[in-house]
Amino acid sequence: MIQNSFNFSAGPAVLPSEVKLRAIEELEKNGAEGFSVMEISHRSDRFHGILGAAENGLRRLLRVPSNYRILFISGGASINFSMIPYNFLNSDESADYVVTGYWGDRAAKEAERCGSVKRIFDGSGDGFRTVPDPLGLIPNSGSRYLHYCANETIQGVEFDYVPKSERPLVCDASSNILSKELEIGKHSLIYASAQKNIGPSGISVVIIKDDFLAEALPNRLSSLDYNVFAKNDSMPNTPNTWGIFIIRLVCDWLESQGGVDAMSRMNRQKADLIYGVIDEFSDFYIGHAKKDCRSRMNITFSLPNDSLESSFLDEAERKGFHGLKGHRSQGGFRASLYNAFPKEGVERLAEFMKDFRLKHS
Ligand code: PMP
Repeated sequence: MIQNSFNFSAGPAVLPSEVKLRAIEELEKNGAEGFSVMEISHRSDRFHGILGAAENGLRRLLRVPSNYRILFISGGASINFSMIPYNFLNSDESADYVVTGYWGDRAAKEAERCGSVKRIFDGSGDGFRTVPDPLGLIPNSGSRYLHYCANETIQGVEFDYVPKSERPLVCDASSNILSKELEIGKHSLIYASAQKNIGPSGISVVIIKDDFLAEALPNRLSSLDYNVFAKNDSMPNTPNTWGIFIIRLVCDWLESQGGVDAMSRMNRQKADLIYGVIDEFSDFYIGHAKKDCRSRMNITFSLPNDSLESSFLDEAERKGFHGLKGHRSQGGFRASLYNAFPKEGVERLAEFMKDFRLKHS
C-alpha cells in the first residue's frame, strides 16, 4: 500500500500500524470472556499476564539487569520530574542537574521546590545547541544524584555518551528510549514518557536500581512514592490498563523487528538522510543542534526567513507531511523520527526538502 501521509509529531507520536491493528482487534474480538482489556479488572489473571508481558518485553529489549525494577507510573515523564526530588531530595540536600534543553530545565525547576539544585551545565546561553564536553562535566561530591535528559525533544540535542558520576545517575530518556542501546547499569534511575517510543501518553516507565529504591525518603504521599509502586506491582491504584496493553504490543512489535540494535541501525540511516540535506544546503536549511550532539529522534532546523518558513510548512502539509512545525518555544521545524516512523517517509521528506530548496533559492 502506498502511504501518502506521514506523521512527524514529537508526541504523542506515530505508533506502528501492526500495533494499531492489534489494538482494534482487541476491542472487536473482546477476549475469551467477551470483554476487551479496557473493560476488565486490573486484578484479573488476564491483565496480570499483560502487565507481566509488558514488563518482560521491556526487560528483554533494554537488557535490564535483575537488580533493577521496572515500574509503570500513571502520568507522563512530568510526574517523575516531581517524584524524583520528592523521593530522593531532602530540603537540606542538593542535586546536580545537567540542563541541555527545555525538559531538563523543567525537571530542574521542579526539583528546586524540594531542595537545592546545582546546574552543573546549562546550555541556555547559546539557545540549547549542545551537550557538555564529558571531561568538563564535574559533579559535586555531596550531591544526592545527577540528573540529565538523554535527548532534548524540543531542541533536538542528544547525548552520545553517558555522563560519569560517582553519585546516583538519573536520566530522562523519554524521547530516545528503545532507539539505541541504553547503558542501564550506569544509571540508578531511568524514566520515560511512553508517548514517543513506547506507547500512548499519560503513562511512564521507570527503571530503578534496587539499592537506589532502598534509599528513597520514607513516609511519602503514597501516590507519589516509588516504593509503594514497587511493592504493589505498579498497581497501588487502578493503573492505565489500556496504556500497559499498548506497551506490551509495542514490545512485541519491536522484538519482531529485530529489537533495539536493529532500531538503532535504522534510526542512524533515517536521521542521516535529513541531516545530509541540511549539510548539503547549509545556506538554506539551518540546523539547530551542533553536529556532534544532533538528535537521531528529533531533527530541528529553520529557514532563512519567516516567509520561506510559512511556504515550507504549507507545501509540506499539502504533500502529506504533518507535525513538522517546531515547538512553540523554539520555532522553525522539527522532524521527529521515532522507531515507528517509516524510512519511506524520511526519504520522501528528504526529496521534498531538496525540491523546495531548488524552487525557492
Ligand atoms: N521529557 C521529555 C524529554 C519530553 O520530550 C517530554 C514530552 N514531550 C516530557 C519530559 C514530558 O512528558 P509528559 O508530557 O508525557 O509528562
